[in-house]
Amino acid sequence: MIQAGDFYSLVLGHASSFENVTFKTEAILDMKVKDGNAILETEKGQYSGQYIFNSTGLFNPEMNTQNTLLQHFMGWFIQTDSPVFNEKIGTLMDFRLEQANGTTFMYVLPTSNTKALIEYTLFSESTLDKEDYQMALKEYIEKELKIKHYELTHEEFGVIPMSLAKFSATVKEEHRIVNIGTAGGFTKASTGYTFQFVQKHVSQIVNELKLNQSPAISLTWKDSIYAWYDRTLLDVLLSKKATGRAIFSSLFKKNSPEKILSFLDNDSNFWDEFKIRNSVPLLAFMSSGMRQLFSKKKAQPKN
Ligand SMILES: Cc1cc2nc3c(=O)[nH]c(=O)nc-3n(C[C@H](O)[C@H](O)[C@H](O)COP(=O)(O)OP(=O)(O)OC[C@H]3O[C@@H](n4cnc5c(N)ncnc54)[C@H](O)[C@@H]3O)c2cc1C
Repeated sequence: MIQAGDFYSLVLGHASSFENVTFKTEAILDMKVKDGNAILETEKGQYSGQYIFNSTGLFNPEMNTQNTLLQHFMGWFIQTDSPVFNEKIGTLMDFRLEQANGTTFMYVLPTSNTKALIEYTLFSESTLDKEDYQMALKEYIEKELKIKHYELTHEEFGVIPMSLAKFSATVKEEHRIVNIGTAGGFTKASTGYTFQFVQKHVSQIVNELKLNQSPAISLTWKDSIYAWYDRTLLDVLLSKKATGRAIFSSLFKKNSPEKILSFLDNDSNFWDEFKIRNSVPLLAFMSSGMRQLFSKKKAQPKN
């Protein structure tokens, strides 16, 4: 587990040690390409450069309840007086919960025998009231983890779009505006995982720049296959052909967690993929797979 605060201070600390790095806090209004240069317009003025790396949602395709599920979660960092956790064992998806609002599970990520992050996570069309997340967490900690006395040290909340909408790798002519992060389609449609994919993409960009090559990186054939798997799983969930609980339970029953995690990192081999493909409800996945294979809709920026 990497805490956002630690990550920000490492990256920003490193970046600020360079004289040619400047930080500005201004609302970005637009980006365009003029005479071969990338131009950034903010509330305070204009900047130009060879490239813009964009992580704003200015060019995102339209997301709606037909093509997008929200992954929403509330996490509680708790501390107990006596040792109750095994810090060597995390729980990725505990599905022993009501599924009335969609795919619903808990993460339990202990960092010591008295400290853990417990995260109530749902994939559904809309978020819940704050009290609903809190009630579910309280109940799970007391009834499933059997912890009666604990201190809540920190609460976190997040919403990540899991979308079939097609995000573009670049915007505007000459690929001078390169989308990164969620804006570039680096949120995995089937799980919402983003962090790891952003790190991989950004390293590729750096390598290309060092070689004086364009940082607009095209998808490899393997990336496209994984994108198709992700879109298929999300299509099954959106069309409610199978529940998340049924899909993930079957996956984890028939494959080792290590293999599934490699698969979710887009990093598995042909044989493991074959086994994983055969671990999901076949009919539901076949029709969604075909539909996603032939969905040719191009990325459509909102503006
Ligand atoms: C509590 C929490 C836990 C999470 N856990 C995980 C996890 O375990 N694994 C994982 O992969 N992901 C996780 N995520 C999701 C992950 O943080 C996001 O997917 C990731 O931050 C997306 O990165 P990004 O750079 O695309 O966008 P962001 O981090 O959202 O960055 C976009 C930036 O652009 C700025 N911006 C937007 N529009 C404008 C504008 N017009 N002008 C100026 N600035 C603008 C925003 O202020 C923001 O700083 C979590 C999120 C939360 C909130």
